Amino acid sequence: MTRGVTGFNGAALRSARLGTKCEKHAHPLTAACLARKVGTSKALILSYEHGRSSPSPQRLAQLAAAVGVPAASLMTRDTQLSDLRVASGLTVSDLAARLGIAVNTYRRIERDGVMPRRRPGVIWDLADVLRVDYSRLRMALHRIPAVQKRWWAAATVLKDVTDRAVNPGPFAPVEDTSTQAQLLATLFRARAATVSQLMNIYLTELRQLASQLAQAKARLDFTTSTRWMNRPGFGRDLRLWL
Ligand SMILES: [Zn+2]
Repeated sequence: MTRGVTGFNGAALRSARLGTKCEKHAHPLTAACLARKVGTSKALILSYEHGRSSPSPQRLAQLAAAVGVPAASLMTRDTQLSDLRVASGLTVSDLAARLGIAVNTYRRIERDGVMPRRRPGVIWDLADVLRVDYSRLRMALHRIPAVQKRWWAAATVLKDVTDRAVNPGPFAPVEDTSTQAQLLATLFRARAATVSQLMNIYLTELRQLASQLAQAKARLDFTTSTRWMNRPGFGRDLRLWL
């Protein structure tokens, strides 16, 4: 038996089914009629809808066709790219062929979230073929463990640099030969010079913001510490000194 797809959304199947008319009986599609359409039992349809079991990729494709929605809309939002592909009933080589890229190039997208540089628009084609919207696809890409690992590593590097940048005092710009720039460049397959340039723009803005914030805080502290001046009688006393 084929393993069911991960991230199947039974409630979405149910609502799509109830929104579909049965061609035979002219009433909302019942579980029994849907079962007949895809060649299975009513019990199994109900078990899908109640989240007790998950359909195989092939069955999911049949169900989606029977209720007239894209397979991806019968999946939960926490799906990875591989789930979306499987839900569409496409193999890795099918999808690579549809996109006009090498199988290994597609594998790198699905496994590592790495887009081929020669086909910058491939993500749009991918959304098209999988019949999902762009934001949904972006989310699926962000759920790839390799991508999450990369962002985590980047966040760690950036936090370190940021912490040093917001401290008052001299700050040396990030050199493209620095460990941080090199690491980020590797993670995002960009040039270290581009990375350090972007980081320095960002860090300069951040330093300005931090210094404005420190000034505002100093003003606030001053106001708070001088609040006693507003006590009744203080003005009068002050006038005596002036
Ligand atoms: Zn019917």
